[in-house]
Amino acid sequence: MTLKKPNSMEECVYFTNRTIGDGMVMAWVFRKECPKCKKGVMGKPQKKNGKIDKKAEHYVCYSCGYQESNEQFESSLVINVEYKCPYCGNEGETTTEYKRKSFEGVPSYVFECQQCHKKIGLTKKLKESKKKGKEEASEE
Ligand SMILES: [Zn+2]
Ligand SMILES: [Zn+2]
Repeated sequence: MTLKKPNSMEECVYFTNRTIGDGMVMAWVFRKECPKCKKGVMGKPQKKNGKIDKKAEHYVCYSCGYQESNEQFESSLVINVEYKCPYCGNEGETTTEYKRKSFEGVPSYVFECQQCHKKIGLTKKLKESKKKGKEEASEE
């Protein structure tokens, strides 16, 4: 499996690149093409000042205005993951649901190492920045 990589953050609704213990994870979610007009891309609506309204509860097609709720939108996406497993050192690629699950008590995107089958969590950045440690995230 070779995952398609984003050329820029603009192509992604989610992007993170971080180290976890002795491993590393790069994960990204591509923007979704509008299922209605198939031309536009879906994203958070823009506010009147032109900024993206990240807290909006829906996504909109920038081309035709078609809308989907956050839930509907996010459940149709997958996270692409390129990783080096912090447990066994395996380097691989996988995909997982774009849905946060509880991982060690923290909402995270969870995927499994294809070699040792340990679960690896991408925790929300908020929690991480409060924690002092090696972990760092470049997620917005
Ligand atoms: Zn559209
Ligand atoms: Zn592993």
